[in-house]
Amino acid sequence: MGSVKVNQLIKKYKDVTALKSVNLDIKEGEFFALLGPSGCGKTTTMRCVAGFESPTSGEITIGDRVVNNVPANKRNCGMVFQSYALFPHYNVFENVAYSLTVREVYSGSPGRRVKSLARLMSKRFGAPSKEIQTKVNAALDYVEMGHLADRGVNELSGGQQQRVALARALVMEPAVLLMDEPLSNLDKKLRNTMRTTIRKIQQDVGITTLFVTHDQEEAMSMADRIAVMKDGEIVQQATPTELYGHPKTSFVADFVGSSNIYQGDVVDKHADGVTVKVGGQTIKSSYKPDKKEVQALIRPEGIELYKSDQVPAGAQNILDGTVEMFTYLGPNIRYDVKVGEFEFMVEQPYYQGVPLLTEGDKVKLTIEP
Ligand code: ADP
Ligand code: MG
Repeated sequence: MGSVKVNQLIKKYKDVTALKSVNLDIKEGEFFALLGPSGCGKTTTMRCVAGFESPTSGEITIGDRVVNNVPANKRNCGMVFQSYALFPHYNVFENVAYSLTVREVYSGSPGRRVKSLARLMSKRFGAPSKEIQTKVNAALDYVEMGHLADRGVNELSGGQQQRVALARALVMEPAVLLMDEPLSNLDKKLRNTMRTTIRKIQQDVGITTLFVTHDQEEAMSMADRIAVMKDGEIVQQATPTELYGHPKTSFVADFVGSSNIYQGDVVDKHADGVTVKVGGQTIKSSYKPDKKEVQALIRPEGIELYKSDQVPAGAQNILDGTVEMFTYLGPNIRYDVKVGEFEFMVEQPYYQGVPLLTEGDKVKLTIEP
């Protein structure tokens, strides 16, 4: 029912090509993140799925229905915006009840429709039906806002407003939930709490979710799969672990975590990998690239640092370096280490009581092939 397919989606605004050719394949019940820097086309993609924009070309399928010619309100998508977009003159309950009430009014007889719409458009609408009350209360309980049902939305914190926006989307029981940077306006601590809340609700309800963000940590911690987007195109679509461990391009590598990335040349091939020359250093890698010119990516936590006399037997890729700087990060320590002409970023867990390396220390770096 709730799968989403986007096939060769192109969107042009006059002379701006916002989407060059976007392909997405979101499975039923999946939490799918669309991740990329500002301006890469995330919102445009989502608006095309929601039906607020019409594609220049390409096909959008929700469930087993091509929806290109289906208006937004018939696509069965619930949407949550960064700015919450709540109705300021309605209270929490009324905000969540609004769409259900509109739907009920429109399904009524024409006479009733006019009367009810007038009531609806007045500052406050009258008592909603029993069914609507039950549904709204359930949605509010889901997002832990039941106790604030009578509160005006302007008297809520950002996190609470976002919960109301989520309840408002969920109460319609949509097939697909679309969320455009919903946590960007919240402070870091609250953002972390809301990540867990949203993920938990999504799993309980089992709703297919497309979640747009520019925050890699958010995408990695919440999503079943992630599509990384750049300049109107999807660069890679994979699970968080695949994306981190096997990024397809240096853009993806850099975007989903910190990396040491160097230009290199394959100078030797073996049964179990290759030797790459990077600047003055030779490094063995267990990867088997098919090109001679390569980019070598080494994650900061993939490097170990030792005092010269403490390198364990059997260590490979041993390089000489000098600590230039260290940065205490709480659970980890980051070292910037100079190796020949290169700067290596190294991150190691910090153990209480173990002496730190400091600026100027001569060290050995070892890298797992
Ligand atoms: P993101 O959400 O990833 O930040 P957007 O989808 O908002 O990116 O925008 C993608 C590109 O399309 C940008 O270059 C933006 O300036 C352009 N764009 C978006 N909406 C419009 C519009 N209505 N008219 C013209 N250009 C637009
Ligand atoms: Mg956007």
